[in-house]
Formats: sequence, C-alpha cells, structure tokens
Amino acid sequence: MTTLPAGLATIPFDNSYARLPERFFARLPPTPVTAPGLIRVNRDLAETLGLDADALASPTGLEILAGNSVPEGADPLAMAYAGHQFGGWVPQLGDGRAILLGEVIDRDGVRRDVQLKGAGRTPFSRGGDGRAALGPVLREYIVSEAMHRLDIPTTRALAAVTTGQPVYRETTLPGAVLTRVARSHIRVGTFQYFAARRDSDGTRSLADHVIARHYPEVADAERPYLALLDAVIGAQARLVARWLGVGFIHGVMNTDNTSIAGETIDYGPCAFMDRYHPQTVFSSIDHAGRYAFANQPAIVQWNLAQLAQCLLPIIEEDEDQALAAAQHAIDGFPEVFETALTVVLAAKLGLTEARDGDLALAQDLMSRMAENGADFTLTFRGLADLLEPPAEPPQSDALGPRVQFQDPTAFDAWAETWQVRLADEPRPAKERAVALRAANPSVIPRNHLVEEAIRAAEDNGDLAPFEALLSALANPYEEAPEHTRYRQPPRPDQVVRQTFCGT
Ligand code: AMP
Ligand code: MG
Repeated sequence: MTTLPAGLATIPFDNSYARLPERFFARLPPTPVTAPGLIRVNRDLAETLGLDADALASPTGLEILAGNSVPEGADPLAMAYAGHQFGGWVPQLGDGRAILLGEVIDRDGVRRDVQLKGAGRTPFSRGGDGRAALGPVLREYIVSEAMHRLDIPTTRALAAVTTGQPVYRETTLPGAVLTRVARSHIRVGTFQYFAARRDSDGTRSLADHVIARHYPEVADAERPYLALLDAVIGAQARLVARWLGVGFIHGVMNTDNTSIAGETIDYGPCAFMDRYHPQTVFSSIDHAGRYAFANQPAIVQWNLAQLAQCLLPIIEEDEDQALAAAQHAIDGFPEVFETALTVVLAAKLGLTEARDGDLALAQDLMSRMAENGADFTLTFRGLADLLEPPAEPPQSDALGPRVQFQDPTAFDAWAETWQVRLADEPRPAKERAVALRAANPSVIPRNHLVEEAIRAAEDNGDLAPFEALLSALANPYEEAPEHTRYRQPPRPDQVVRQTFCGT
C-alpha cells in the first residue's frame, strides 16, 4: 500500500453511480502500465474540483493518473451501455477502455465524474486493447479545454500521462491515459442498454438517478420521465446550437456519444471548420457524410428519438398515450433547436434581442460565406471591426470580414442589410463592438494547429507546441499580439482534410 501525499489521501469521493444495481457496470481496477510519464495536470480544473494540483503532479499522483494505484475512496468501474453507431444497432458497447474512478463534488457544488480513459481492458472491450494513443489523448485535451473556454458544455481534461507502452494501430504509437471529468458519463446509449433488455426497472433506476443528478427540477412534474425527455431535448438543442455557432463538427454523433447531461463528449475525429461549408466532414470513417456540420441538429433529434423510445415504458402506463406524448416531445425538437440557434446567431450578429428574420439574416451571411470560401471564425470576428476598428494597427487577421470573400461585394451586399437591422436596435457602436467580440471568438483549435501539436509530441516528444496552443486557447475572445499565428487560417499546404478517431 503506497502512502499518498496529504492532498490525495483525502480526495472526497462520493460514488453515486457505484451504488446503482450491479448490472449497471463491471467493477474492476485500471490495468497498471510500465513507465508512466506526466504530460500535464490541469491546475485550473484541479482547483475547481478542490483537488491538490501539486499532489496530482507528484510521483504518487502520477501513479493514480496512470492507473497504477487506486486512491482511497475510489470505486473503479466500467459502465455498461449500448448504442447506435452510424445508425447500426449495437446491443452492448460499454466502457471498453475507460474506468470511472468515482465522483467528487466540485467547488460549485456540482457532482463530477473522474474517469481514466485508456486505462486497460474491461469486460466491454470486445476486440480492443483498452488503451489510447498519445495523439487522440492530446487532441481530446486540447479541444475539450478549448470548448470549455468557449463556454460550451463539455467534458474536461484533468490530466494526461504517457504509459511507456506502445499501442498498435495502423502504426505503433505511444500510449497515453486521459483523466476525463464530466457531469456524468451517462449517454443515450446507457438508456438503450436497459431498454433493449426490456429491463424497465433498470430504465427507471437510471432515470431516477439522472433526474436527481442533472434535472432535479423535473422531479415534481406530473409525468417526470416525460419532463426528463423534454429537459434532455432542451439541453441537446442548446448544445448543438452552440456547436454550430463556432463551426464545430463532432464527427461521431452516435447515441453512445450523446450525453444525457448535455455535454460535448467523446472527442474523436472532431474538428473546427476553417472555411465555412455546411456539408463539411472531416472524419475518415464518416463516408456518407452522416455527421456533416449541418446534419448535426437532425442527427441529434434522431438520437433523442432513441432516448424517447427507451423511456416509453416508464412515461406512463397507457402505451398509446406514452407514445403520443413522447412523439410530441420529439416533434418539438426543430422548434426548440431553432430558438436556441437564433439566440446564438443573433448574438454573433451583435443583436441583443433575437427576432423573426434574424435567423434568415445570419443564414444569408453563411450561404455567402460558403459560396466565397470565407473563413467562419474570422468572418464573424471581423464584424466588430466594421463598427470599431481595432486599436492596434491592423494585423493581417484584422482586415475586416470583406477580405474573407472571393467576391467581397457578396459581403458588402449582406452588410447593408445587417446595418439596417442594427439600426432597429440603437446602441453605441463601441458597445456593440465589445458585445460582438464577446460573442465571436478569435482563437479556435484549428486543425492544423492541433495536428502540429500532436506531431511534435508524437515525433519528437516535444510538448512545447501543445502547451503554447493551450495557452492561446485559454482566452479565445482576446487578440493578444503574441497569439497572432493561432488566429490565422491554415496556408494551403497546412490544410487538414481528414481526422481520425485513432481508436
Ligand atoms: P468511441 O468510438 O471512442 O466512442 O468508442 C466506441 C466503443 O468502442 C466504446 O464502447 C469504447 O469503449 C470502445 N473502444 C474504443 N476504443 C477501444 C479500445 N482501444 N479498446 C477497447 N474498447 C474500445
Ligand atoms: Mg464513445
């Protein structure tokens, strides 16, 4: 038994999922690795969780983060779930390479899962090795933290470590473990697991757990499980609207990758668009473009319909009435989503109050962007410069949105209608520019930068580009002069066309 530094001996775990019935998971510890090495501890997140970052970064902390020792109070387990992957039904998936250590209550009183991803084989591993490669671990670290800084609900990265062991994919790669923090790891696929087994007691226990944990406000509703469905619909609608507002493409929106808490989860071949096009796909495994940028709302609605299906037996006794109520909730998704998207896009246009026509106004801009190869992030970011030129002498990324368009007059024509709309909502230009800059990030994790950070780490063990990228992404709404290169779109030779999930 290792003695833990004070800060770790006292991790105040309170493991509510582990108290659910045994069939919800498989209890097992992580599989030890030969030579753990620290990549990074997320100090900011450690502090939020009330954990001692120095202790986590110590040799004993490293042993925990690598899965070589289990801290007191943890109750390690792999969660059971099922799912539709690319529309095809898989009755049993489950954590094939992740181990939930337990839950802690953070400084804001929010319960958070602490999970090791890449921690070895489990009863759910099927043919997999239970491990993760360094590249995908760094990608998830970078992109999930960027999402957090963009204020988009997401799982987070508490730490990343190397294992000292190779993993075998198309090539031999260094192995790594990501410590992931989530409001929970419960997915639409978790409900599907029980529903597929006609285990209504399991479904009900899971639903009660989810309500207590994520949606306590629905507990007193007349039909709480229907209210739960509505709550998840709302959370997912708002989440996907936020994705569309930053040009994010998840890439693998399978039902097992759709979080019940409404967080972005399971960063695989995800990517942010440079040039805007609604049909953009990056994932090497998404041949049909099922999860293309603009398809994401329809796909999440489909995933939510699977959740609705699972909840039918517990919504109410009368089957026909349960079906009608659930169908009504799912049919309401487009409207809920459109409202959420309108709020996001109106803010991106510098409007305080969204009204009829604003969605069309934003969509008009975006179709012009698509026709003209305009960079998504720089076009929106540049809108503020039209109202208030940037204080600094213009940098190459601050030339305004016009230069993003192959035919700049396509932008000019739109900008005239935009100005007319702005005139309806009088506001000092300076103030509006501030609001615009707070709604439109200047730094996003562009693929070529993520790729560059991964390449340096994988090929040369050089973590400097990874660290530098994280610090540029830490303040996405600022234009620090030292971060100019992180705001630039890729040169033609830097463009990344495909991303891989690397599992
Ligand atoms: P993902 O595509 O990462 O969402 O994973 C889909 C399913 O495959 C989940 O059940 C994972 O736990 C499992 N899985 C992915 N990679 C591995 C691996 N290397 N070993 C075992 N299971 C894996
Ligand atoms: Mg997954």
